[in-house]
Amino acid sequence: MSSNIPQGVYLFQGNTLVVPGDIPDSLIHEGIPDNYIPTSSITILDIPVNEGPGVIKSADLPTDMPLPAEWRGIPMRQALSLMDVMVDGNGPMGWLLRAYHIVQWRRESVFCGSCGGRNEAAANSLARRCPVCGRQEFPRISPAIIVIIINDEDKVLLAHNKQFTPGVYSLIAGFNEPGETLEATVVREVREEVSLELHDIRYVASQPWPFPNSLMLGFSARYAAGAIKVDGAEIEDARWFTRDMLPELPGNGSVSRYLINRWREGTMGVPPWSK
Ligand SMILES: [Zn+2]
Repeated sequence: MSSNIPQGVYLFQGNTLVVPGDIPDSLIHEGIPDNYIPTSSITILDIPVNEGPGVIKSADLPTDMPLPAEWRGIPMRQALSLMDVMVDGNGPMGWLLRAYHIVQWRRESVFCGSCGGRNEAAANSLARRCPVCGRQEFPRISPAIIVIIINDEDKVLLAHNKQFTPGVYSLIAGFNEPGETLEATVVREVREEVSLELHDIRYVASQPWPFPNSLMLGFSARYAAGAIKVDGAEIEDARWFTRDMLPELPGNGSVSRYLINRWREGTMGVPPWSK
């Protein structure tokens, strides 16, 4: 069913992706075939694709709307775990993430942030425009960093965040602040959360992370100095782990797991770990 032009329709209800029961997990990112959609009762939004022809058909179902029998709602984070992690921005996974991001943004941009007027669709653009004061609003993307830190003994730093499932350890992450470079975000977050100093900070890969509107930028870095001291607010525990003594890790479908897997396999592609 994959092609360069979106075929299916993406239905969302709150933070879930809604699909008929007979669509297998392996195809949920393709969207729902047109003939399944009771269009009379659902308003379809046409979102232009990022590149090339075509629109991504999508709809935001009211949260109190009962689903047809046998249909199911899959939490979007769970939906991501069913897919390959690194996203082709101009393929079904990119379309799904784009649709979810835009649908959420539209929920939150009904009114003008300056004068409170009711926004309208802007002509020839994804933006919304206030008919009262003329303010335009565009979908917001909030960059966040995530960093895999390796020490000279080739151990990885993993931390348990209070919000994680008990026993799960992951990488240090945090939002970019206004006026800050991404590299400075990496340094600051690592200092704040585990009190370590880094060097050799390198960009590795990114992933759209629409929970609600992030872009995760994955970095690698080498430990330079300091002893682990967790902040106690966000991070409850952090330790160095070897490949053969890893704790429970975040699921597939996250850039965190992608970075950890590349280190485990020795394919980070960044010297000196690429050997
Ligand atoms: Zn306005």
